[in-house]
Amino acid sequence: LIRYDAQQAAFYREKLVKRVQADVRDCYQCGNCSAGCPAAFTYDYTPNQIMRMLQVGLVDKVLDSTAIQLCVQCLTCSARCPRNIDIAGIFEDLKTIATAQQRDVPEHVKTFNKAFMDAVARYGQLPELYMMAMFYLGTMNPRMAMGDVGLAVPMITKGKMKILPRRVKGAAEVSRIYKKSMQKARDYERAEAVSRQQAAEGARAAARLAAATKHDAGALAAALAKGGSEVDG
Ligand code: SF4
Ligand code: SF4
Repeated sequence: LIRYDAQQAAFYREKLVKRVQADVRDCYQCGNCSAGCPAAFTYDYTPNQIMRMLQVGLVDKVLDSTAIQLCVQCLTCSARCPRNIDIAGIFEDLKTIATAQQRDVPEHVKTFNKAFMDAVARYGQLPELYMMAMFYLGTMNPRMAMGDVGLAVPMITKGKMKILPRRVKGAAEVSRIYKKSMQKARDYERAEAVSRQQAAEGARAAARLAAATKHDAGALAAALAKGGSEVDG
């Protein structure tokens, strides 16, 4: 059973339109995005399912999903969408929101993202070997690392991966931009959560006031009716 949450759906739809210029209502579920996604086999929900969940307001499930965390931003989905929806942009933005909201994503996903972003922020590019080493150290799971050694060796010998990471020119600037944008996203999410909480409290107070007014009006009408019948009697 899918519960349609119109309020959540509208809230995040407007947010995504503003931030990514993509409207999830445009999706008509053709499935092209999922068919072309090279990472979909690792996701809990395929890209078109994510789009549908956003349409019906299942935003919490989307923000907690591994799909938005494991997307590799290859842009295939955005290129294949017949409705020109920037699905990759939506995924990226949702990932930023989930990180800023400190969502509880699976530990290895969190570790991978941290290793990836820390490596980019530190070196201004992605030193694959360094990043994977940081990831495996973070997972504390040597068996996972052993599975990839077979791939790493030929890539190193063929010069596809460098053993030592190299800091590119402007790496400090990349790091500054990354930290600043993450701080901005966190501040934004915090301010938004506070204003949503205040709006919900305001709505609850208004409902309580309306109920009390209705109750008082009912009591007054009953008292008047009683007074009238006593006078009549
Ligand atoms: S390709 Fe576009 S229209 Fe088709 S399911 Fe994906 S998002 Fe929706
Ligand atoms: S950008 Fe992400 S969701 Fe889209 S096709 Fe690439 S990996 Fe899949």
